[in-house]
Amino acid sequence: MPGRIAQAIRFLRTRLAEAGIEDAHRESLLIVSHVLGTEPAAVLPGDGELDHGQRELLMALLEKRLRRFPLPYLLGWVGFLDFVLCVRPGVFIPRPETEGLAERAVEVARDLPPGSLALDMGTGSGALAIAIARARRDIRVVAVDVSEWSLRCAWENAQRLGVADRVEFRVSDLFQHVPERFSLVVANPPYVPSEGIGHLPPEVSRHEPRVALDGGAAGEEILRRILREAPAHLVRGGWLLCEIGDGQGENLVRFAKEVANWVELRVEEDLGGRERYLVGRCWGPTT
Ligand code: GLN
Repeated sequence: MPGRIAQAIRFLRTRLAEAGIEDAHRESLLIVSHVLGTEPAAVLPGDGELDHGQRELLMALLEKRLRRFPLPYLLGWVGFLDFVLCVRPGVFIPRPETEGLAERAVEVARDLPPGSLALDMGTGSGALAIAIARARRDIRVVAVDVSEWSLRCAWENAQRLGVADRVEFRVSDLFQHVPERFSLVVANPPYVPSEGIGHLPPEVSRHEPRVALDGGAAGEEILRRILREAPAHLVRGGWLLCEIGDGQGENLVRFAKEVANWVELRVEEDLGGRERYLVGRCWGPTT
């Protein structure tokens, strides 16, 4: 590992690119700035020296990254919308496509009366719950997850971002410990078909929690449970916003119509043009 910062960045970039990691330049800058404890922009001139400890640490991080350990786990954080979330192994890393779900949830939340309740089902790092709580100081958010480990991380994020007084974190398997009714329910549940997990990038398939990805045989098991149970937990006219997988929309819409009455129900695409969001406004369960 070269001693000068600019050379070290080049060294990392070359090794990462050779290993087929896209965006090797951005990643090498982020890893070097992490080791230096500075902002990436401050590293750019890059003509300082790395000390022995920094070089060792850089080498260890590079080796981990070459084994496809996800960058956000290496750095300990990931950007989401206009804020930063801490993440660590065992906690699902929020994706850019989930920002689209968060934007839709924030839009709905903006029109809710003060004192309304929102639910984030399977909160992971807390991304969706925190996005809603940041948008509206006068509504309450309940955030549930099966993983206590994730909830601890989500709570720390909420604390650091100043919304912990408005978000209640709770261990629950979907609606198991959720008796309330909500004006808005959001979820980025596991929706990858079990068989498909092995085909995801190694960062995901080898390192991220399976419980956050595996949606059963067709990937729709958890989504169907949510669709079946959510109507009884929504106020009349309440919104359900779910992230879904490409190709799942039609089936899920048909299923949703069997179990509830909807004022609105549609599938929307992400920025890449893939089916990604199920947006529904519910008028109550079918009887
Ligand atoms: N889009 C995600 C991925 O592949 C899947 C997320 C999920 O199941 N909620 O990485």
